[in-house]
Amino acid sequence: MKNFIETLQNTEFNQEELIRLLLSEGEERTQLFQRAQAVKLEIVGNKVFFRGLIEFSNICSKDCLYCGIRKSNEKVIRYEATDVEILDACRFAWQNRFGSVVLQSGELSSPHFIQRVDGLLRKIKEMSKGELGITLSCGEQTLETYCQWRESGAHRYLLRIESSNPELYRKIHPDNDFHRFENRIQALNDLKTAGFQVGTGVMIGLPFQSVEDLANDLLFLKRMDVDMVGMGPYIEHENTPLYNFRKDLQSKMERFDLSLKMIATLRLLMPDINIAAATALQAIDPSGREKALTIGANILMPNLTPCEYRKEYQLYEDKPCLDEDAELCRNCLEARIELAGCEIGYGEWGDSKHYLK
Ligand code: SF4
Repeated sequence: MKNFIETLQNTEFNQEELIRLLLSEGEERTQLFQRAQAVKLEIVGNKVFFRGLIEFSNICSKDCLYCGIRKSNEKVIRYEATDVEILDACRFAWQNRFGSVVLQSGELSSPHFIQRVDGLLRKIKEMSKGELGITLSCGEQTLETYCQWRESGAHRYLLRIESSNPELYRKIHPDNDFHRFENRIQALNDLKTAGFQVGTGVMIGLPFQSVEDLANDLLFLKRMDVDMVGMGPYIEHENTPLYNFRKDLQSKMERFDLSLKMIATLRLLMPDINIAAATALQAIDPSGREKALTIGANILMPNLTPCEYRKEYQLYEDKPCLDEDAELCRNCLEARIELAGCEIGYGEWGDSKHYLK
């Protein structure tokens, strides 16, 4: 068996080796982080790219058991930002040279919703003279819809698998045809067919989840050959069914630490992809995102959602930056990125090198 340092030099990893990295402590944990940082600098460089996040609607037709804005949570006040508000946020991103935006919402598949997103894509492209890159995160749709949105200007799409273990997936979703694991896989494949740069991700520290599951999640990301990953700690939300299992959870700090190890390990496994420093990290540790940037992540998503809507878009509890406007949020991020020793890739789309290859 290879020693730990030898394992870190691998370019391919099996499940056993991944588990070893994920369970590393003390000196070995430090060596993992150092190696991931070195690989990141060598392959994708020191730049961090901004994706201005606009959570334009919290109306959702689904009922995922972990999600604070699930359809059955009647305590949430539902909103839909207007086109003017969305375009204002995009203009802020463009004028501040963010490079790109992410339009995120609950999942709807009505013709009205599909056309609305289509219209927004066209308006954003027109307003920014084609300069602003657009990522969509609007859930499972048909291949036809994905192709239409791709045609209208979106070029990246985020659709998290949340867990690549079909059994665990079933435990955290209602058991009905709207929430099938197979549909999620199909959607990810359809996104590739439609020509998107595809991003997915998982939650770390879920009830019923083992370290073997997490190692398999990493192997799944590799097998799916994704271009971007956004993953972070599972944080329980009081008004969700999964909250009943909170006693089975690891402490938040343990989930946080495991998330950092997942990010570092993923950087070794897939050196040229884009990895986001998820906001959920900051919900546990105030410098959580900077820590992720130093050990492998290279994407940040400053929140540009109009402040009055933010508190109604809480997928999990303790979400940070709920009351900071976009300008403050930007200043706070700039300082944080400097502290992490990274440089901001202003005005660049920051596409995944993996996709470009
Ligand atoms: S995770 Fe997404 S699809 Fe599921 S309930 Fe929440 S917003 Fe809707």
